[in-house]
Amino acid sequence: MLAARLWARQRALPRRVGFSTAALPHTSLNPVTEQDVAHFSKFLAPNSIISTLSPNPCAPDELETYNNDWIGRFHGQSTTVLKPKTTQEVSEILKWCNDHRIAVVPQGGNTGLVGGSVPVNNELILSLANMNKVRSFDPISGILVADAGCILQSLTDYVAPHNHIMPVDLGAKGSCQIGGNVATNAGGLRLLRYGSLHGTVLGLEVVLPDGRILDQLTTLRKDNTGYDLKQLFIGAEGTLGVITGVSILTPPAPQASNNVILALPTFDNVLPLYQTVKRQLSEILSAFEFIDRTAYDLAVKHGQGRALSEEDTKGAECFVLVETSGGRREHDEEKLNDLLELLLSADKPLINTGVLSQSPAQFISLWALREGVTEAVSKEGKAYKYDISVPLSSFKEVVDNTREHLRSKGLLHDKAVKYVLGYGHVGDGNLHLNIVADAYLPEIENALEPYIYEVVAAHRGSISAEHGIGAMKTHALPYSKSAISIELMKKIKQVFDPRGIMNPGKVLE
Ligand SMILES: Cc1cc2nc3c(=O)[nH]c(=O)nc-3n(C[C@H](O)[C@H](O)[C@H](O)COP(=O)(O)OP(=O)(O)OC[C@H]3O[C@@H](n4cnc5c(N)ncnc54)[C@H](O)[C@@H]3O)c2cc1C
Repeated sequence: MLAARLWARQRALPRRVGFSTAALPHTSLNPVTEQDVAHFSKFLAPNSIISTLSPNPCAPDELETYNNDWIGRFHGQSTTVLKPKTTQEVSEILKWCNDHRIAVVPQGGNTGLVGGSVPVNNELILSLANMNKVRSFDPISGILVADAGCILQSLTDYVAPHNHIMPVDLGAKGSCQIGGNVATNAGGLRLLRYGSLHGTVLGLEVVLPDGRILDQLTTLRKDNTGYDLKQLFIGAEGTLGVITGVSILTPPAPQASNNVILALPTFDNVLPLYQTVKRQLSEILSAFEFIDRTAYDLAVKHGQGRALSEEDTKGAECFVLVETSGGRREHDEEKLNDLLELLLSADKPLINTGVLSQSPAQFISLWALREGVTEAVSKEGKAYKYDISVPLSSFKEVVDNTREHLRSKGLLHDKAVKYVLGYGHVGDGNLHLNIVADAYLPEIENALEPYIYEVVAAHRGSISAEHGIGAMKTHALPYSKSAISIELMKKIKQVFDPRGIMNPGKVLE
């Protein structure tokens, strides 16, 4: 009976073409019913329920933004989105779902790039968007406690008047939520300077799958009292519980920030350049970001930031954006100028030229060239995105070899793959390898996988440096994790979520 009802609902919803949608791995899980929605309406406000199953059903297209992911590759068919406003409401939802074996997908800003934030089938979507209040901020310690649904940009704006910044920053900051950042252990543009969220997150409030509230929302800098459970939820991608509150250490805002884009004649110069920049700028270096020529050209083509002059980009094979954050503008500018002088006056200069920002607007514009690559790629076509960790010295080789591999398969032409490009956080050893195609096609995916994962494994790298596993890479986990690691991960999942209701089909197969 249940199976028949589930099938009928799937047919009623628009089904987009998306080859990645899979069957729910846990056949024992149930779909949401009218009775479930009637139960939720007893304790949720009417505007916290968007469902085709409620007495006032929503139009199916109202569910579109929740069912489809940012890159348009993963598509769910959920009938119901709940948007609780309190931790208690989240607790009641999860308790009901656990008792009735209903699968739940926690959703933040839905900017994830590995299909983790949308259902693989018709799971219930639990959106944190209505939990968006700052709970407290201590300007002395810089410790911020906020609801998980706060948008990263709004938290940045909140702490700015107190001369603090968020320790994490990424291109999706206008939409992604702090809970989503923690759930994906987002890296981003400031990791080089402020470290990962495993260090800056001080405490979490998490609703466990059975509805119990795990209150670890401490604001302590030091707490050595046995197992640090919060670490398990950082990067768990919603498979162990729903994060509802985050306590995070925000660093003091730098008194001066500068940036410069350096145009390099050859990729071979990136590593020696990194060494020189680190040595010369030492404590004020806060970002060292790499963009290859194709990525730069696409960013410019799609209006991300202001293009450098033709003269500045002539003969450049790639670009590096260097940011400094320090305590005194004159001191930092002097250091940057000394660096540029040194680079340009060398017998065999590592760079062709450097464009230094001269105003806050130019600072933003130079950053936009780098931050805007993700958006430019999505405007250009359908992107296969691999965020991998490989030795810095092999960044270019990996991009070039992938391009040649696709060419050898006859897939590098206008009707299939248009661009193969690389960019990323050199300082963190993280390469974003993007393959931009006209459409998502099985033959392209088959050519890319397991090819790319085998390349990563050969370098003893990671198949996911920051975006996570989501639904996209569950099958590829063994390329980066040993059998023992995966066995222990499954046991941990079993301890927290014995009924398997939390984000099924994500992280673990
Ligand atoms: C333009 C652009 C630039 C990006 N740049 C970067 C970058 O530099 N570095 C980087 O790491 N990522 C980057 N990303 C990827 C993405 O923005 C991050 O993964 C981000 O942290 C996701 O946050 P979100 O709120 O959108 O989460 P969602 O996409 O909604 O969810 C992501 C995962 O977290 C889970 N989740 C969300 N909220 C919760 C919660 N409260 N409790 C439990 N689980 C939850 C979801 O179930 C899902 O598995 C970028 C994305 C875009 C579109």
